[in-house]
Amino acid sequence: MALQVYINGELFDKADAKISVYDHGLLYGDGVFEGMRSYGGNVFRLQTHLDRLWESAAAICLTIPISQSQLAEDVNRTLAVNEIVDGYVRLVVTRGAGTLGLDPNKTSDPQVIIIADHIALYPDEFYENGLEIVTVATTRNHPGALNPRIKSLNYLNNILAKLEGLQAGCVEALMMNHKGDVAECTGDNIFLLKQGVIFTPSIDAGILSGITREAVIELARDAGIEVREQTLSRHDVYVADECFLTGSAAEVVPVVKVDNRPIGDGAPGPVTKDLTRRFRELTGAAR
Ligand code: PMP
Repeated sequence: MALQVYINGELFDKADAKISVYDHGLLYGDGVFEGMRSYGGNVFRLQTHLDRLWESAAAICLTIPISQSQLAEDVNRTLAVNEIVDGYVRLVVTRGAGTLGLDPNKTSDPQVIIIADHIALYPDEFYENGLEIVTVATTRNHPGALNPRIKSLNYLNNILAKLEGLQAGCVEALMMNHKGDVAECTGDNIFLLKQGVIFTPSIDAGILSGITREAVIELARDAGIEVREQTLSRHDVYVADECFLTGSAAEVVPVVKVDNRPIGDGAPGPVTKDLTRRFRELTGAAR
């Protein structure tokens, strides 16, 4: 059976899952989304993802045409129909089809889309040996222009940074904010460890309030490790003892080199490994 994609309450074969070319989601990136993981058939922190989706929508004055409980039910139905137990779910809400002008008031019918698919995981090697990343020239969106807290369909800022990373041979790239402080990676939040304390940029650095970030902060504090959300510079990254990234897709992944400089002793550190284990325990991920 072909993969079934949900659009506005109906399921379509993947090849037939289509929306209008007049949809402002396509024309202008006018819409919001979420990326979530399911473990053993359950979406990790589904309610938190729904809350963030509703917040992103509110920030762009987009009314999601169904209730949170209905969407939660539909997410589970889409996973079940596709027999996906451990996988990835993409929720998309577009502004809907309109005129060729920008005016969102001239659109109708926001499209609610659920794609449940198998996830292309980072290779095991990244978890065992760590990732190499680079800092890039592309600045993270200024929060006063387009707040990175809004998980909008307008991801060009991240894509430009990703391209720079790829050109340097790295799958992930670290962006600074408009002040030159550490912000986040293209699809992941960043953490450092220095002298036993965990540091991560605060939300007001202009970053997405990552759901994995939040879970890892909780896990670290429960384990008795101090976590500080504060301004961090590129210097702090270079001199850190350990570094790791968090994201729904990546989970917790160690970083061993930044701009070709080894972090700590150039291997995944003990705290990173411990938090990776604790996070897997939390999600129930079998790996
Ligand atoms: N930052 C950005 C820019 C992202 O796209 C993501 C992935 N959604 C993250 C951070 C990590 O967030 P989460 O842990 O909620 O997946």
